[in-house]
Amino acid sequence: MIRALGFLGLLAAVMLVVAWFAERPGDVTIVWQGWRIDTSAGALVIAAAAAAVAAAGILGLWRGLVGAPRKFTRWRRDSRRRRGYVALTQGLVAVAAGDPIEARRQARRADVLLNEPPLTMLLSAQAAQLSGDEPTAKTHYTAMLARPETEFLGVRGLLVQAMKAGDRARATELARRARTLQPKTPWVLTTLFELETAMGEWRDAAITLQSVQRAGALAPAAVKRHQAAVLIELSRQAAERGEPREAVRYAEQAYRAETDHPAAATWLARSYAAAGDQRKAGHLVEQEWARRPHPELLAAYRLARPVAQPLQWVKQVERLARLAPTHRDSLEALGTAALDAGLWGEARRHLTAAVAAAGDRPGAGLCRLMARLEEEEKNDATAMRRWLQQAAEAPADAGWICESCGAAHGRWQANCTRCGAFDRMIWRAPDRAQPALVAVAPEAAPP
Ligand SMILES: [Zn+2]
Repeated sequence: MIRALGFLGLLAAVMLVVAWFAERPGDVTIVWQGWRIDTSAGALVIAAAAAAVAAAGILGLWRGLVGAPRKFTRWRRDSRRRRGYVALTQGLVAVAAGDPIEARRQARRADVLLNEPPLTMLLSAQAAQLSGDEPTAKTHYTAMLARPETEFLGVRGLLVQAMKAGDRARATELARRARTLQPKTPWVLTTLFELETAMGEWRDAAITLQSVQRAGALAPAAVKRHQAAVLIELSRQAAERGEPREAVRYAEQAYRAETDHPAAATWLARSYAAAGDQRKAGHLVEQEWARRPHPELLAAYRLARPVAQPLQWVKQVERLARLAPTHRDSLEALGTAALDAGLWGEARRHLTAAVAAAGDRPGAGLCRLMARLEEEEKNDATAMRRWLQQAAEAPADAGWICESCGAAHGRWQANCTRCGAFDRMIWRAPDRAQPALVAVAPEAAPP
């Protein structure tokens, strides 16, 4: 449209010029080398314009002829690149679709057409991996390490391979390299954290977890819980090294990081007691018992309030139980202490209340306590057998259960001994179909 208007404008201008010359006639005579031309001024102007147009046309044709081979070469190159990119795309689609033969075919095509190794190496590696050819994939990934633009992808490929092969040491090394290259990539940080916890490298894991937190790679609640888990393990290591003060320091950090971590309070109380700070240990247990009674807190209380006589222990338990008087663990603790001290009436009163609190489904441990009471107080073999039979059918007592695989453990620990899951242990009754306990000793009393 614009072109047509432009042409019309040009035509109008030419007409005007022609008209202008026609209205103002004049003669022109050219004499050259014995030739003589007589014409009008208008005709000369038209002839000059025609000559200029013809010259422009010839020049354009000449340029076109001279530039043709170069244009053809460029067209060929562009077309190759286009086909190369199509092959690359189709190859990636084939990888995503899980078609190894097509992926390899397109990878070879892209490799030939594009001649740009950084672009095609990843596809070649993935195609090889898809067809189960790990050595070839490894060769491609390793080659990618040499170029800065593909180094991260190469590291990532090798890391996935190392993890698949179960080579944690190599995987950790690669994950650390990946972190150097991309310090804020969430999967790099969480993978590294996972590897460090699996290997029990708690100090490194604590540092990595800080990066995980900064990058927002895990939910804040999960970060807090994991912090507590890592710090409890660091505390435990310090205790094993014979550094009770260091153990307390880590345990305090763990408790501060996540007060509700299932193992933090008990471990801190035990650490206080092991470091000779019975007063703090006792206070902590009492404070936690008021909030949430727990059988392991009772065990820690024994360390915090050491007594020589069962009767003295009854007094201590009464003091503790007053903080949560109707809780079933309080009643059971009172009943057990009374039973140990031979206070039959007290024992029966508390244990009966505990059975009632359990809603007629008393746990196996409570049933066994009742059996013991019947035997020790009244020597009633029939009642004892009845309770023991009930114990066999009763729900199993709560313990440390891995939420990932269901394995029961004698003590809390960050890593499941069966499936290796990190920080998945909670205190609950085991599943009914659960096989025997994983052989891990309960927490030994600190020296
Ligand atoms: Zn597990």
